[in-house]
Amino acid sequence: MNDTTATTNITTNRRPVNKTEAEWRSELTPEQYRVLRQAGTERPFTGEYWNHKEDGSYTCAACGAVLFGSDTKFDSHCGWPSFFEAFAPDTVELKSDQSHGMTRVEALCRNCGSHLGHLFDDAPQTPTGQRYCINSASLNFQKNDPT
Ligand SMILES: [Zn+2]
Repeated sequence: MNDTTATTNITTNRRPVNKTEAEWRSELTPEQYRVLRQAGTERPFTGEYWNHKEDGSYTCAACGAVLFGSDTKFDSHCGWPSFFEAFAPDTVELKSDQSHGMTRVEALCRNCGSHLGHLFDDAPQTPTGQRYCINSASLNFQKNDPT
């Protein structure tokens, strides 16, 4: 049974990974920290993965959760890794973002709450019409096991 107390506890402390900013700062590179924890954006065409085409999984650089599969990555020519779908419906959390005078949809890692990038509805060439525009600094890549 789900009583209200349990629900409240899950809501207030619902992330499996909860670290202090000091912990994040010591574990991440300065660029990763700026992007993941301070919602920064790397310069386009500078990241490690915008033009990366190997088969495998893209994981959260902060907590290791699998976020996107290479089969949903597409070439959007925007200079950031772009995906048309998250690895699973609950891996990426979406939040309204009013910063920089724009209304955008922010994409966060649900597991640890780190900033990944933004979601746009501007990819008619994909099956979903959506583009997750993600910073390379927010990602690590795991190659598929060749077996
Ligand atoms: Zn994460």
